[in-house]
Amino acid sequence: MSQPAAAASTAFHIGQALLPGGWARDVRLAVAGGMITQVQADCPARAGDERIAIALPGIPNLHSHAFQRGMAGLAEVNGQSADSFWTWREVMYRFLARLTPQDMLAIAAMAYVEMLETGFTRVGEFHYLHHDPDGAPYANPAEMAVALAAAAGETGIALTLLPVFYAHAGFGGQAPGAGQRRFITTPDGFARLREAAGRALGDLPDAVLGLAPHSLRAVTPDHLATLGAMAGEGPVHIHIAEQTREVEDCLAWSGQRPVEWLLDHAPVDARWCLVHATHMTEAETRALAATGAVAGLCPITEANLGDGLFPAQAFIAAGGRWGVGSDSNVLIDAAEELRWLEYGQRLAARGRNLFAAGPGGHTGAALLDGALAGGAQALGGQAALAVGAPADFVTLAADHPALACRQGAALADGWLFAAGRMGVDGVWRRGRRLVTAGRHHARGAVEARYRKALARLI
Ligand SMILES: [Zn+2]
Repeated sequence: MSQPAAAASTAFHIGQALLPGGWARDVRLAVAGGMITQVQADCPARAGDERIAIALPGIPNLHSHAFQRGMAGLAEVNGQSADSFWTWREVMYRFLARLTPQDMLAIAAMAYVEMLETGFTRVGEFHYLHHDPDGAPYANPAEMAVALAAAAGETGIALTLLPVFYAHAGFGGQAPGAGQRRFITTPDGFARLREAAGRALGDLPDAVLGLAPHSLRAVTPDHLATLGAMAGEGPVHIHIAEQTREVEDCLAWSGQRPVEWLLDHAPVDARWCLVHATHMTEAETRALAATGAVAGLCPITEANLGDGLFPAQAFIAAGGRWGVGSDSNVLIDAAEELRWLEYGQRLAARGRNLFAAGPGGHTGAALLDGALAGGAQALGGQAALAVGAPADFVTLAADHPALACRQGAALADGWLFAAGRMGVDGVWRRGRRLVTAGRHHARGAVEARYRKALARLI
């Protein structure tokens, strides 16, 4: 399987485009070597330009566990005891027990095809499934990362790989359980694994290597200090306060809540992304916003797992940065993540247009601006139609009824709230078209291989 052979055009003429300063008309993008070299608004088309009606930057997906796409929908059966995040996790551990690197490639490629089809052009892969089914490292300790890099290479999505350090089952260094043996490393083993993962990224265009302490449940304070030093200037991601039980356990262990503890004990700054900062007090919310770190929000998964609601209004009022992720990949859809981010807040606050920036502000536009800026920051990439950025963009279906007669920011509202994924027409990476009429060029082959892998696993 190889990437589509479509030659990169050297210039695009776009009727309406979302630029860093807002929506503009008659935008001409020049592209060389996959990168944007010139952006001109109010510019007539020239002969040979590729004509596009509506374009916006590709959306960064800041948090994914790609393999979990293979179990999507399998945990929607009422279990023996009260179902929760923790019973879902048992289903997930059973699903991954036999998964091979070939399965990882098959499932991740399927997930990445779906991400691209809905408008995500970069994925942050929070990668903890490292070892073989017995918990022994593969001959190449980064064998699973090799599979993820191959899936990104085949599908064309930009990859920020976040190898995960995972050592314990709970706060205070509790011994890991059998279901966690494929994740566990020592700090030295992790350093070797991460180095090998860096090599696996090889010449994957625009790849970024970060790292991720799994959670305060899974690492000790000493580990956290070691990992912070290892990260250098790269992104650092951590699961932080997804579940109320996690908050209670952290209080019992340290006398502090997870976000409170982390901000007191780690140099949290703009390199950091706190995933599922769901349960915060008002003081934690303001303190996190002040660090410049990104809050990683995964509205579909957080709803699916019954996590709770992130205090978005207070966080944004305090200047907090945020982005979205598809996390468990139970459903992959960029527009739906953003729509549910707003809808969750509406249901809780019994209000409307809660993300909009003041009177006259468009909610869809504010959601896009937040997800583009926060997602790019969290993943160490760029998400803008600007000189020096990769030519990664989404084109909307101008003939979709929900976009009829819309202009500028109203197009963002129309896409996110009224059209959804049917509103996506094309997706381009480095100036190459990967998705046409909502379908990835490699979907047929990727889907056939995915079905074979699933037939063996389920
Ligand atoms: Zn996660």
